[in-house]
Amino acid sequence: MISYQQARERIASKVRELLGAVATESVPLRQALGRVLAQEIRSDRDYPPFDRSIRDGYAVRAADTHANAELRCIGELRAGDSPSISATAGTCLQIMTGAPLPEGADAVVMVEHTSREGDNVKLDRAVGPGQHVVRRGSEQKAGGTILAAGTRFGFAELAVAAQVGAANPVVTRKPRIAILTTGDEVVDFASTPGPFQIRNSNSVSIAAQVALLGADPVILGNAADSLQDLREKISAGLQADALVLSGGVSMGKYDLVEPVLREFGAEFIFDAVAIRPGKPVVFAICKPSSPDAQGKPIFGLPGNPVSTMVTFDLFVSPGIEILSGAKPSPLPLLEATLISALAEKPGLAHFLPAILSWSGDTPRVSPLKWQGSGDVVAMAHANCLLVVPPDRETIEAGERVRILPRRVY
Ligand code: AMP
Ligand code: MG
Repeated sequence: MISYQQARERIASKVRELLGAVATESVPLRQALGRVLAQEIRSDRDYPPFDRSIRDGYAVRAADTHANAELRCIGELRAGDSPSISATAGTCLQIMTGAPLPEGADAVVMVEHTSREGDNVKLDRAVGPGQHVVRRGSEQKAGGTILAAGTRFGFAELAVAAQVGAANPVVTRKPRIAILTTGDEVVDFASTPGPFQIRNSNSVSIAAQVALLGADPVILGNAADSLQDLREKISAGLQADALVLSGGVSMGKYDLVEPVLREFGAEFIFDAVAIRPGKPVVFAICKPSSPDAQGKPIFGLPGNPVSTMVTFDLFVSPGIEILSGAKPSPLPLLEATLISALAEKPGLAHFLPAILSWSGDTPRVSPLKWQGSGDVVAMAHANCLLVVPPDRETIEAGERVRILPRRVY
């Protein structure tokens, strides 16, 4: 059985292989959060555009400075002013944070290190050339690439685009991700289930995970565990850019997703990964009915809600990132100290709902009590997943372990 790392690599290379030209559109910057840049953004001018003071104080010639030096203040510069007076030997100009350094000056003395009487400014120390000044072009040169194609817009990336006036960036079209849950026992979450039915929580969590990746969820509803219903709904799902299924991929008599995908000529890349929860996860490529159509990635996730969430994060995310024109992000694995010993079945990587907390400077992690992969309540209470590697049967308290922070919004 392949490891989750191998499975992620296979998904990435397969989806990359299928990917044609990604359609693009231009969007107002304020609506670009989460979108992926299709074209690089270049700097419209040097940044900073002038030698900028980064402190409130006095613009000076560094050579004039020493403890007890006295300089004559000959002017003032506020942020936004254009400097008209030059600093000459023995003089200084009062300067505010964000203002341009005047001609002749090469450093700033912080106001805290000065005392002033009338125009006479007394320094309590020397400063070196360049002190408290950010030189023109030192952050970015005019014409240089400031954001590469494939970058996803978070708040900092949006600020960079705003800084250079990229008001309508060209981004990739959001991939449409069809979501089909399966199971005779599954009913709409807004309805009242019979005593042995369960509400459809997976269609809600999968749609949220798709939206968090900046893609468009297309909710197809739930298919009964029947060949006919699965055929119809899978066929509809193949119209989207990718199809995510939940349930019906285990070994049960009514787990019919794989046989139906086979009818559609699916090429199975894998149908099990050495993880728990989520072992029966399936990744396949399917062609929609029209013969010239491109193959579509299909993710068959196990139906138990925690398995569905974990396998989505591990396997669907990199696929959607590539379909979006972005580079797949590395798993944000961090380290923490295990609070109490644990034992898990070896041979599988385990992802256990857990709580990360801090004790002084030490990150500590403790798995939550849970009833296995159906226990979505434990998952909702967890702020991370504790990752137990497949070669470990027991881990002692005090050992360093890997954790995967959980996105909670
Ligand atoms: P399956 O993977 O189809 O064998 O389902 C495994 C377990 O997950 C069963 O207990 C199902 O009732 C449950 N399950 C399947 N689909 C969903 C769903 N859409 N929402 C919540 N639970 C589900
Ligand atoms: Mg089922």
